[in-house]
Amino acid sequence: MNAADQQPPADRSQGLSIERLGVTYREVTAIDDVSLEIERGEFIAFLGPSGSGKTTILMSIAGFTKPTSGDIKLDGRSILDMPPEDRGIGVVFQGYALFPHLTAAQNIAFPLEMRKVDRSAITTRVSKILDMVGLGDLGGRYPHEMSGGQQQRVALARALVFEPSLLLLDEPLGALDKDRRLAMQQEFRLLHKKIGATIIYVTHDQHEALSMADRIALMDKGRIAQVGTPSEIFSAPASRFVAGFIGECNFLKADTVDREEGGHRVSVAGYAGHVRGAQAAGGSAALAIRPHHAFIAPHDSIGVPATVSDVMFLGELTEYITRLSSGEEFRIRRISDKHDFNPSIGDHVKAGWEWDRCRLC
Ligand code: ADP
Ligand code: MG
Repeated sequence: MNAADQQPPADRSQGLSIERLGVTYREVTAIDDVSLEIERGEFIAFLGPSGSGKTTILMSIAGFTKPTSGDIKLDGRSILDMPPEDRGIGVVFQGYALFPHLTAAQNIAFPLEMRKVDRSAITTRVSKILDMVGLGDLGGRYPHEMSGGQQQRVALARALVFEPSLLLLDEPLGALDKDRRLAMQQEFRLLHKKIGATIIYVTHDQHEALSMADRIALMDKGRIAQVGTPSEIFSAPASRFVAGFIGECNFLKADTVDREEGGHRVSVAGYAGHVRGAQAAGGSAALAIRPHHAFIAPHDSIGVPATVSDVMFLGELTEYITRLSSGEEFRIRRISDKHDFNPSIGDHVKAGWEWDRCRLC
């Protein structure tokens, strides 16, 4: 351990440390200098677009991909030289191939047989884990006799059966329909509480990450764009990429941006206000405004002149798509049935927003 390190030793010795990890496939840099500390028992999601390096990180932790540089430590010890089967990590990869010629119970028993656990202990543990994933009666079925959701549970049970302290899940719900997916998300959270294992969950679905994880590491082109709790990442995105990837966001060109106490004075078409915080480094100033922080008002109000180009009723919410005097499109979202002012397509209105919720990026 580095003596100059600021963190207390206890933090480092308990959990997973990814240290300056780099993975290069020939000329492709899949992972570019990624560092992250994951606490024992944490539920962390790696979120990001396709190709951002999520699977590569998981493969490196599991031991199926050899990093080009950096280190991965589990409870303070490097695991890079350890073969995958000695790392004691449970893994459910995309596609979760079960052995088709083995029953659910035999699939689940497989990792225990590999570890030479004795017969009677295997029987007990397999039946216990089948109960835990809600498949108590289906141990004798073959994969082709089960639904996608049931097969998914078998794959999960197979990863859990040897009680790993670290569980890696790569888009484990991708093959399921929406209702099943929502139900399984809930179950993963309950299961996490029950088993107390560290879970690293890879997904490209922001809703899945926001609703399930304690922390999210948002990946962009092999790097971590931001790491934080779901609400931190949503409310305080560190860059335009983050603001655009998580939730929806308008980006407006600001006419003037002047530094002032605690933030900046920003003006858009004569509509001015105070935006908190430092301007994110790099790029010209764009004002990031979430649609639900914006409002629509009669044309003689304060705001930026706009024309309503579409109105979409979404149920609880209604979205107004407007065009500002600058020609930029601007989306406004509000609760559907709480307003007296309900403009229609073609109406001239003013668009405004809660300045203290906006950010410069
Ligand atoms: P994600 O899981 O976020 O979609 P991946 O980790 O699979 O991303 O891929 C990251 C990058 O590495 C992509 O550009 C991908 O094309 C590349 N890549 C992944 N696996 C290999 C491989 N075995 N050989 C070459 N390039 C690869
Ligand atoms: Mg992937």
